[in-house]
Amino acid sequence: MDLELRDRTYLVTGGSSGVGLATVGLLLAEGARVVTCGRRADGLDAAAAQLAAALGAAELSGALLTRVCDVRDAAAVASLVDDATQAFGGLDGVVNNAGQSRMAGLADVRAADFLDELDLKFSSVLNVLGDALPWLEKSPVASVVNVNAVLAKQPEPRLVTTSAARAGLLNLTKSMSVEYAARGVRVNSVCLGLVDTGQWRRRYDDSGDTRDYADWEREIAADRGIALGRFGRAEEVASAIAFLLSPRSSYVTGAALDVCGGVSRGLF
Ligand code: NDP
Repeated sequence: MDLELRDRTYLVTGGSSGVGLATVGLLLAEGARVVTCGRRADGLDAAAAQLAAALGAAELSGALLTRVCDVRDAAAVASLVDDATQAFGGLDGVVNNAGQSRMAGLADVRAADFLDELDLKFSSVLNVLGDALPWLEKSPVASVVNVNAVLAKQPEPRLVTTSAARAGLLNLTKSMSVEYAARGVRVNSVCLGLVDTGQWRRRYDDSGDTRDYADWEREIAADRGIALGRFGRAEEVASAIAFLLSPRSSYVTGAALDVCGGVSRGLF
């Protein structure tokens, strides 16, 4: 199926690693132009080199724009959207992906930790869409995907601040989908389970576990009750995101698509 992404322009935040990088790669492979950001220039350079090796430098030339930008910094985000629209003339979609989770139980956190986590989840989306919306409104196929987690609906005792903030983001995404529908912009969520990316590699390194990563991951998958018995791959999430960005999902808005290998037990 042709996803009809060719020659369209997408902004993907946090494209130097994991889900963001896989999404950037897939969109480029589909013939789209992509703007992406991260906080570290070296991470973006390494990602661009990886994409050039996979897709070909000629294919990439003029199709990928990378910028150092912290999505919590409203002024930096305004410059990012400015650069994107100047380079490519508009925007057809946004993937709000940049972010991370905070491992902490209720006994270890204070109100300030919840507020910090809420700030990350909300600023990262509100800053970007504040500047991108006028451009998205000009596109006949505008679509926004907010990368979220099943934690939004199924809180984890080890991730209390992240779970609460994600529930807020899921709620906000629904409001956006209703408000922006009249402006021709669809807004959906993907709710991830456990996906093998930089986040988990860092947790493995910090754990001091002497087993190899695959054994460590298998044990966590069993402990968390992942029905498919394994972590997801970033590419599996990228496929779901690409579908929601695509005009092929033109009647889907306000949806939350679980990409979680069956770790989610809820019906909704
Ligand atoms: P990675 O750590 O592999 O990648 C995160 C990306 O976001 C990097 O490019 C990072 O670059 C960038 N980033 C992080 N914070 C900021 C910021 N403030 N401003 C700009 N860029 C930023 O993470 P994943 O691919 O695993 O995660 C992607 C999204 O999916 C995140 O929002 C995460 O919370 C969510 N998620 C992931 C799950 C998983 O199991 N992997 C589960 C549930 C949700 P840099 O560090 O240079 O800024």
